[in-house]
Amino acid sequence: VAGVKYEYRGEQKELRSKIVIAADGVESRVGRWAGIKTHTDFRDMESCVQITAAEIPVDPNTCYFYFGEEYAPKGYFWIFPKANGAANIGLGVSGLIGKKHSAQTFLNHFMEKKYPNSTTLTQIAGGVPSTLTLKNIFAPGILLAGDAAHQVNPLSGGGIHTGMIGGSIAGEVAADSILADKPDYIFNYDKLWYERVGKRHEIYNRLKDGIYNFDDKKFNSIAHAFNKIPPEKRSLGNLFKTALIHNPSLLIDVAKVFLMK
Ligand SMILES: Cc1cc2nc3c(=O)[nH]c(=O)nc-3n(C[C@H](O)[C@H](O)[C@H](O)COP(=O)(O)OP(=O)(O)OC[C@H]3O[C@@H](n4cnc5c(N)ncnc54)[C@H](O)[C@@H]3O)c2cc1C
Repeated sequence: VAGVKYEYRGEQKELRSKIVIAADGVESRVGRWAGIKTHTDFRDMESCVQITAAEIPVDPNTCYFYFGEEYAPKGYFWIFPKANGAANIGLGVSGLIGKKHSAQTFLNHFMEKKYPNSTTLTQIAGGVPSTLTLKNIFAPGILLAGDAAHQVNPLSGGGIHTGMIGGSIAGEVAADSILADKPDYIFNYDKLWYERVGKRHEIYNRLKDGIYNFDDKKFNSIAHAFNKIPPEKRSLGNLFKTALIHNPSLLIDVAKVFLMK
């Protein structure tokens, strides 16, 4: 890879560079053009949709999450309050579910049931690769970053923060490689990513697989047990501890999450 050809305002252009960083999103075509496999199995592709809606009467200081068959099987549903009674409301479901019952259908059902008088202001939808980082995130002269490299947290489906970390590591590695005039230096990218974030994602991915198999009964019993914890003591750690009592097989992975730095 020695640069990119692109179109700008109808004009064909060419830009030569020592290193290209492909941050072109899920299923990265730029990566594929360089011979890297960027495909996502549909079972790992969370199908996500989110609206920003007005007139949503929720506590502005609380983020709401819904789990279970009715709201988001093999995924979760969220309400993130914004200012002036608006909120971001959305969900992600596994591609396995989305194939039969789209994320949009779940959202419509929820809005009709809970907030029939709200107004939708904006809407976004897309696939989120909720899986492990790609096996290859570089090739000679090219590095992949963000969704293009599958740097999304597989448990939460959040890829903004982790994509920024991946992008910053890619940028540093590229700069160091050019400054030292060592093209091979970029091959350190995957090790640096793995140490900083990637190894955690392996554990999150296993936790996701465990949690995906929870049925509604299990979610309800965890929620009821968690409700007994005084509000000031409720934390993510305590939530996982409660979940563990109900599913001891997750013990090792949960312990690793909280012990790893
Ligand atoms: C509904 C929904 C809600 C989400 N909510 C959250 C959330 O709350 N928190 C969170 O952390 N993450 C969330 N995510 C995931 C998050 O959006 C992504 O992980 C993140 O945007 C990835 O950033 P990126 O820059 O790698 O890729 P992208 O945001 O996909 O950006 C890639 C860019 O490259 C451009 N591009 C593609 N191909 C080319 C080409 N050939 N030439 C030039 N440009 C090209 C695209 O137009 C795009 O602008 C959500 C995703 C969805 C779908």
